[in-house]
Amino acid sequence: MLKNEVVTKLKNDIESNTLSHAYILESPNQLFLEEATTDLLLAYFCETKIACRTCRQCLNVINNTNLQIINIGDATERIKKQEVLDLIAKLNITNLGEDDKKFYVIKNIEQLGPEASNAILKTLEEPPKGVTAFLLSNNRDEILPTIKSRCILFYIDDESFALENNILADVIQSGNKDELFLVGAKLRHLPKNEVVSILQDALKKVVLQEKVEIADKFYDAIYNIKKMTNTNLIIENLMIEIYEVL
Ligand SMILES: [Zn+2]
Repeated sequence: MLKNEVVTKLKNDIESNTLSHAYILESPNQLFLEEATTDLLLAYFCETKIACRTCRQCLNVINNTNLQIINIGDATERIKKQEVLDLIAKLNITNLGEDDKKFYVIKNIEQLGPEASNAILKTLEEPPKGVTAFLLSNNRDEILPTIKSRCILFYIDDESFALENNILADVIQSGNKDELFLVGAKLRHLPKNEVVSILQDALKKVVLQEKVEIADKFYDAIYNIKKMTNTNLIIENLMIEIYEVL
């Protein structure tokens, strides 16, 4: 889904008071993850409910001074068990009013060590009342399955990655064969619809202009990816076909 679609969907949940206790937001684009989370928190706390970014509540969210929001992780370093224990302690302090929600945001949930994961798992299994988690991740495959299974997962497409910087088109154009398999590895992590748009875009931008001999392979791959569930092999084969003509 696009970032705005995810934000709109969750804003509806906020408005209808049906927020779940835990969401995983996944995207290769860290900025999108952080922007989406901020947009949602603004939508919840804004005094005028329009995420105005100027009222006192919005400023508290933006400046990290809202006591109902707890952030941990910096998206680079491994998150320590103690940080998670401190987080859980804060979630269990009930100095807020009955209706006051609390949110916690863990930047890069895949950076949790095994002990920290176990600690957070208990909180996900028995969430304290009125608590919602936004767990951010660049790669769902690195998240513990037991954590994943207790959250609602949204994938945020990285439109800029997919189309503006079409890495596949760039590699074909530059003729740098060695990078092809790196591109293949990246494509395998993307959802089908995004792979299809990258292939269609590369076909139009480069293949039909300069490498028309593999155009058929592209059409076949696009057709098959749309039809099949397991796309890895199709991507791999296409990379080999491209390799041979570069
Ligand atoms: Zn506001």
